[in-house]
Amino acid sequence: MKTVALYDDDSFATEFTAQVVDCQETDGKYKLVLDQTLFFPEQGGQTSDVGIIGEAKVYDVQIEDGVIYHLCDKSFEAGCKVVGTIDWHHRFGNMQQHTGEHIFTGLAHKLYGADNVGFHLSDNTVTLDLNIELSEEQVRLVERSANEVIGADVPVRAYYPDDATLRLIDYRSKKEIDGAVRLVEIDDVDICACCAPHVNSTGQVGMLKVLSYGKYKGGTRVYILCGLRALDDYNRRMNLLAKSYQQLNCPEDDLPDRIAGIMDENKQLKYKISQIKADILMNQIAGYPSELHDVTIYTEDLDAKTMRDGVNTLVERHDGLCAIFSGNDEDGYNFVIGSSSRDCGAIAAGLRELLGAKGGGSKQMAQGSVLATRSAIEQTL
Ligand SMILES: [Zn+2]
Repeated sequence: MKTVALYDDDSFATEFTAQVVDCQETDGKYKLVLDQTLFFPEQGGQTSDVGIIGEAKVYDVQIEDGVIYHLCDKSFEAGCKVVGTIDWHHRFGNMQQHTGEHIFTGLAHKLYGADNVGFHLSDNTVTLDLNIELSEEQVRLVERSANEVIGADVPVRAYYPDDATLRLIDYRSKKEIDGAVRLVEIDDVDICACCAPHVNSTGQVGMLKVLSYGKYKGGTRVYILCGLRALDDYNRRMNLLAKSYQQLNCPEDDLPDRIAGIMDENKQLKYKISQIKADILMNQIAGYPSELHDVTIYTEDLDAKTMRDGVNTLVERHDGLCAIFSGNDEDGYNFVIGSSSRDCGAIAAGLRELLGAKGGGSKQMAQGSVLATRSAIEQTL
């Protein structure tokens, strides 16, 4: 026996009484079937209502072949009467998002011939997929028009037309529907086949904001938020912004320039530091007596170019193996080795074989990285 879907007729009702048809336990959860319910089950890309039935918490609702299953944390006796209450804050938020999606898609269809090929509504994300690519200008025009439709507060009606009437109506639908077609009509904006609860007029959506959009499967995926969830998101972003400009101690409009300035300054400082490090390395190299054959330097935080320059200078002054290892025992070392007399490619191959090093090179010079301690490297060399 199919469950009577009370949310179909009155999307603003929050409390109902019903009779328990069946209640089965699986893995400590109870699947409760009632003769009728206000709980909208997960379907058409929208997550379910949540709420309370009797003493039990309802955390998920599913539908199979017209039978609605409430997933609860308590069991029920078949035949008993229960009172159920849906979480209105959650439901109203879902309705604001869903009607908002119809307005946006309806306008995108009207203005640009776009068809909706996907929809997802969860507690904090709403995405809609259109089958054509929209430009920035087009997205912003649909967004603005949607908010004008919201401001005009036009009626939203859900109804089941008879077959003859249905044949005359040009409505949007994502798929072929078997059984009665329920239409959701927004005057002069959209008519769409839909099973979900909606607000009664567009003004109740409050506002619609496009958060982002991008190319998706040859069309466009649009992220929107409506009503109170849009307000929450606005406040979250304002907070982030305030933290940023307070931290940087500047007016919010100056943020982009301020950040660009800091990044530029950072780049210049990094360059200066690498120059100072290179100078220190060259001084260190100049301090080694030229009679030394082999010189290996262990250091930290040197870039590849400074290491190569250092090894080239060492090779000019010493005829054995010259090497620079930059790093530490914990994270490993980057290395450059050079020599006028020994085969650096073969030495790198040895490091690969014995210490699992990466990299290689020619007879004159080799470079790479190795995850090993200084003493293990010293023994291997
Ligand atoms: Zn819908």
